Amino acid sequence: MDSGLSEKHRVVRRSVRRFCDAELRSVAREIDQEARFPWEVAEKMGRLGYFGIQAPREMGGADLDALSYAIVIEEISSVCAGLGLCVTVHNSVAVYPILAFGSEDQKRKWVPPLARGEKIGAFCLTEPNAGSDAAGIESTAVRDGQTYLVNANKVFVTNGGIADTCLMFVRTNPGAGRREISVVVAERGMPGFVAGDLEDLCGMRANPVSSIRLYDCRIPADNLLGQEGQGLRIGLAALDTGRMGIAAQSTGISQAALDETLRYARQRRQFGVPLERHQAVQMMMADMATLVDASRLMTYRAAAFRDMGRTFSQASAMAKLYASEASCRVTDMAVQIHGGYGYSKSYPVERYYRDARVTRIYEGTSEVHRMVIARGLIG
Ligand SMILES: Cc1cc2nc3c(=O)[nH]c(=O)nc-3n(C[C@H](O)[C@H](O)[C@H](O)COP(=O)(O)OP(=O)(O)OC[C@H]3O[C@@H](n4cnc5c(N)ncnc54)[C@H](O)[C@@H]3O)c2cc1C
Repeated sequence: MDSGLSEKHRVVRRSVRRFCDAELRSVAREIDQEARFPWEVAEKMGRLGYFGIQAPREMGGADLDALSYAIVIEEISSVCAGLGLCVTVHNSVAVYPILAFGSEDQKRKWVPPLARGEKIGAFCLTEPNAGSDAAGIESTAVRDGQTYLVNANKVFVTNGGIADTCLMFVRTNPGAGRREISVVVAERGMPGFVAGDLEDLCGMRANPVSSIRLYDCRIPADNLLGQEGQGLRIGLAALDTGRMGIAAQSTGISQAALDETLRYARQRRQFGVPLERHQAVQMMMADMATLVDASRLMTYRAAAFRDMGRTFSQASAMAKLYASEASCRVTDMAVQIHGGYGYSKSYPVERYYRDARVTRIYEGTSEVHRMVIARGLIG
């Protein structure tokens, strides 16, 4: 269906789709099965600006708007959601907070290699005892002269196995209140920086999700992002953009599941006719298409609000909640219409079904999103 996009945004979609068809589609199944990060594709993406979608050109970025960002994430995720996850997290919760809260020196130091994809970013908030309750983190950064002595235990870090520039959420004033949190940037290779084994995930297997631990790691005080105590503000601002990215990712997975299903339902015959001629199958396909369309519209609305400079937290949270839940329903119906073949790794809908499931969990679970949206309603 016509999405009403401008010519500029259609060009963005065409070019990323062409790239993904040429470079990513042929390896998507294999990298899922082998749980391998596709460096050979990521390096080419770096040269095309996908790792600095909204970063300024003078810093190596593509300087595109939020709607373009959503389109890029949607298209990559429709082919390989694990790589889509890498790109969305890198752009929205690693590069963006540095651009928004970093000093000029910090931006000049960290953004160009990130925007060119020469370095990979990570957002390290979740800990063993602090998931939904982000203010419950226990990692600490104690100021000692011109450095912070950091001890941190971060789990489920997207890109963790390959990340170079890691935004670490820590307590800089452990005796103070729960919300007294700051962000320091840890760099791979610093003494005490340890990336753990990769998580053996159900879906998103091309993404090297791992723990990251810092043991008595001395981080220059200059690596503090923003001010001490600004951590939750930085995190929430990053998540507004991040959630829009997960909404786009979910939409991409849903679209891929719908496309595969339409193809399959035309070619598979039962009771003497193609599946698509059975009314019960048609009803499911109609529901799938409607869910995909609504997900995309909500995602683009959040992006458009951001591009207009309007408050977009609520729109972004609603888009993430809706599109992630929709992607689980759409991929479930895709498996159903494929019958037994949908449950086999021989067909891609099985992978979409696994990939979709986590979109309801990361960057805030659906339950947390409902709490955030309700808070927005009652003020
Ligand atoms: C593949 C993957 C990648 C991830 N990437 C990152 C990353 O890059 N950076 C990062 O920091 N984190 C990351 N995460 C962590 C993710 O954000 C957390 O898993 C998520 O926030 C939930 O936290 P938890 O797993 O500790 O679950 P918990 O917080 O223990 O929640 C368990 C269940 O209880 C519910 N619950 C909790 N509190 C409430 C409440 N008050 N009211 C109602 N229900 C509640 C939750 O909704 C959930 O259903 C990733 C996770 C995965 C699986």
